[in-house]
Amino acid sequence: MANDKRSLAELANHDDFLTRHNGPDEGDVQQMLETLGLPDIESLMTSTIPGDIRLARELALEEPRGEAEALEYLKRLARQNKTFKNYIGQGYYPTYMPAVIQRNVLENPGWYTAYTPYQPEIAQGRLEGLLNFQQVVMDLTGMPIANASLLDEATAAAEAMALCRRANKKVKSACFFVADDVLPQTLDVLRTRAAYFGFELVVAPAETLPEHEVFGALLQYPGATGEVRDLAPLLEQAKERRVMTCVAADLMSLVLLKEPGALGADIVVGSSQRFGVPMGYGGPHAAFFAASDALKRSLPGRIIGVSKDARGQRALRMAMQTREQHIRREKATSNICTAQALLANIAGFYAVYHGADGLRTIASRIHRLTTLLAEGLKQHGVTLAHDSWFDTLTLKGLDHGQVHGRSMAHEINLRYDAAGTIGVSLDETTTAADVVTLFDVLLGDEHDLSVSELDRHVRETGTTGIPAHLDRESDFLTHPTFHRYRSETAMLRYLKRLENKDLSLTHAMIPLGSCTMKLNATSEMVPISWPEFANIHPFAPHDQVAGYKQMIDELSAFLVEITGYDSISMQPNSGAQGEYAGLVAIRRYQKAQGQGHRDICLIPSSAHGTNPASAAMAQMKVVVVDCDDEGNIDLEDLRGKAEKHSESLSAIMLTYPSTHGVFEESVREACRIVHDHGGQVYIDGANMNAQVGLCRPGDFGGDVSHLNLHKTFCIPHGGGGPGMGPIGVKAHLAPFVPNHVVTPLPGVDEKAGAVAATAYGSASILPISWAYIKMMGGRGMKRATQLAILNANYIAKRLEGHYPVLYKGRNGTVAHECILDIRPLKAASAISEEDIAKRLMDYGFHAPTMSFPVAGTLMVEPTESESRYEIDRFCDAMIAIREEIQRIETGEWPADNNPLVMAPHTQADLMEADWERPYSRELGAFPTEATKAAKYWPAVNRVDNVYGDRNLICTCPPIDAYRDDV
Ligand SMILES: *Cc1c(COP(=O)(O)O)cnc(C)c1O
Repeated sequence: MANDKRSLAELANHDDFLTRHNGPDEGDVQQMLETLGLPDIESLMTSTIPGDIRLARELALEEPRGEAEALEYLKRLARQNKTFKNYIGQGYYPTYMPAVIQRNVLENPGWYTAYTPYQPEIAQGRLEGLLNFQQVVMDLTGMPIANASLLDEATAAAEAMALCRRANKKVKSACFFVADDVLPQTLDVLRTRAAYFGFELVVAPAETLPEHEVFGALLQYPGATGEVRDLAPLLEQAKERRVMTCVAADLMSLVLLKEPGALGADIVVGSSQRFGVPMGYGGPHAAFFAASDALKRSLPGRIIGVSKDARGQRALRMAMQTREQHIRREKATSNICTAQALLANIAGFYAVYHGADGLRTIASRIHRLTTLLAEGLKQHGVTLAHDSWFDTLTLKGLDHGQVHGRSMAHEINLRYDAAGTIGVSLDETTTAADVVTLFDVLLGDEHDLSVSELDRHVRETGTTGIPAHLDRESDFLTHPTFHRYRSETAMLRYLKRLENKDLSLTHAMIPLGSCTMKLNATSEMVPISWPEFANIHPFAPHDQVAGYKQMIDELSAFLVEITGYDSISMQPNSGAQGEYAGLVAIRRYQKAQGQGHRDICLIPSSAHGTNPASAAMAQMKVVVVDCDDEGNIDLEDLRGKAEKHSESLSAIMLTYPSTHGVFEESVREACRIVHDHGGQVYIDGANMNAQVGLCRPGDFGGDVSHLNLHKTFCIPHGGGGPGMGPIGVKAHLAPFVPNHVVTPLPGVDEKAGAVAATAYGSASILPISWAYIKMMGGRGMKRATQLAILNANYIAKRLEGHYPVLYKGRNGTVAHECILDIRPLKAASAISEEDIAKRLMDYGFHAPTMSFPVAGTLMVEPTESESRYEIDRFCDAMIAIREEIQRIETGEWPADNNPLVMAPHTQADLMEADWERPYSRELGAFPTEATKAAKYWPAVNRVDNVYGDRNLICTCPPIDAYRDDV
């Protein structure tokens, strides 16, 4: 356009990212508004959001920055981090993520944009990856069952403690034993949890365990100071005294060490970080949780199990889904929801790629280099704290100041303990040259040590740090999966084959109510791979993490402005952890006010299951508040219950807009009632995507909220984690948010214990949310919220003639999601919400949220990122399915043989020689033109849930099952 009349300013404007993030363009918006019969988007906002909570100004955030500009700025921040070589250990180690896994899993939206595998037919790939992870954990720990990840080692240990109490019916003591060489951050989290479970922690040397009357015990293997202790006698004695035992173990060391299962542990927990997942200043990493057979039905978190599909073929699914928290509510035994699926997959693939012999080489090299280091230091008169080790040495008698000076000159981080010792932990990336440098740093330049001579000496004398009776004797990773994919070509194809089985945002919209499956932009994801963010140890000295600090400060400031709170705690690793942290802050605050007896938590009946579960974990008593027929909180009931429990009211937990998908008019009043009775207001921020830029929980009565950064702020779901659930708090609660024992936080009470293993949780994914906010600006995010609401209302409008929309606001509008009521249909046709969910797969879509918050419904949340084209495609599919149901209602198709109950349709169905169905193959598998042009195939037929739960198998299938596999 030679005669382009736009000014340079217009040509250089940075709104380009807004049009990338938001689906509908101006034309779409106009047409959707017409469908709704509204003149402009502002009138939709006015009819939807109560006037008394509307933000009367624009968010005070910067103008949107372009993608290149934002990344350039972030790179400058990242460069302020110093990537020193780390020997700090304590549960975090440098590692090599195989490049084939980095590019094809971590950096691949086919993996990271997938949802939690509630719909197993379209999730067989990541279910297999998670099954691999479980197998790795079971084999290395020597336990018969493992879950598919928890948030971090410290919270896994806390879950283990709670499970001991539940499972141990024999010992009445309220005491739990913790060995004094457990990782400090684990102890910190245990202290917080124990306080609200009413447990007393006994922290003492491991060997004193038999002296204490306790219901359970946690031992570290190897210990935090590196000692490799034979736990068998302690575990045996404990068993005799009916004490349940937990071992926190290092996964890499178990390659060489006798497995805790063989030593007699009931529960084994730990982190899989060093299986190829970068330290990332604290996370995300997948923790593991393994247990004895007796505990298999009470494990926290998700477990992947083997079942069969409608054709009798092997198919994977999440086992025992009914244990999920939204069903158990305050009877839930844990509040874990989002876990670390993506990172568990990565750790599992690391094991698949290396296999048992690869892992043996890696672990043996780590151990050999540690032994050489020990030997050389001993030859030069350095005293070691222990005469056993795997990868960690604790050194006595060295001059902290001198060693520190030399280590800084070499850009090396060591661990300096208060007791005057120095700790060194080696890892997969350590080389012989690094050991020489360590000698230089620890001994000064005056030594004449040669690594090859030491190696010869060590081999000749058979020196090792592992006591002979603790050598691992059993095999591990014997399944074909761990042998087949050792060449990069084979691995690449395996990863691709699994990816192709799964439906992700790369295929279609994932309209999951309450989960906000919006765009996870590539530019937002790029920074997490930068070494300046990825390779930072969470306990690195302050002056090495200036870039992280500034990024976190900026993100906090953005979130303060967006929410109307006064400060942010970045520690919680998920929404549910945020709930727990927020409730604990409330309890700490009330205790400081002399109101520690307040323990009633009001929760509306519509709440997400994690709300009552978190309240129970904070030792609160849950009192349920009713909802009226319109789905709103029943204010009279609330008033009555607040009155009745006035003396002991601690808090209310509200979700806003409610999980019923409406902006309740009375939210201010509800908050006021609770405040008037001395309670605090927790607003669950999972639905913040309907608020950003339009209203702020901190303005209309909230004292604290969590934000699901993996919903509203673009961190991808990863197939069930990672996530981040930072909390915003009003100033009076700020001192009571979680602190951290190793890296204390400014402005927080030093006695406030941690809720997660690291001070800023999964810090390395925070750049994703930072970049989103930076590139959208206040203006862009407000527009996103408006479009999210517009998209939801457009869907409600298009579908309401076909499926009743259950709840609407005062003016007949919904918030950012809508609930379709399937119950009347089910009564008339026997077709269920599940049949519709499965049939949607044939149309190429992921189902909406099923039966939450109301049984027999589907909750649809389109988000702002979906275009009108995609939304129409979805609505057309839903309407076509409604017409199919019609044909069942009229008797044209039998209730037990129709495209809905037979859904999803697989390629195997189409190849069937005898097609004995009253509809065509084409209608079954290619119901629309779009599916003919680009078909996504479910990998298996409908999965049998009941069979899988009755026959609980959570290991990789036996060798026979692999015969015909590729
Ligand atoms: C997702 C969600 C939660 C839990 O968040 P996680 O990050 O999965 O722990 C809590 N409340 C509501 C309303 C949610 O939608």
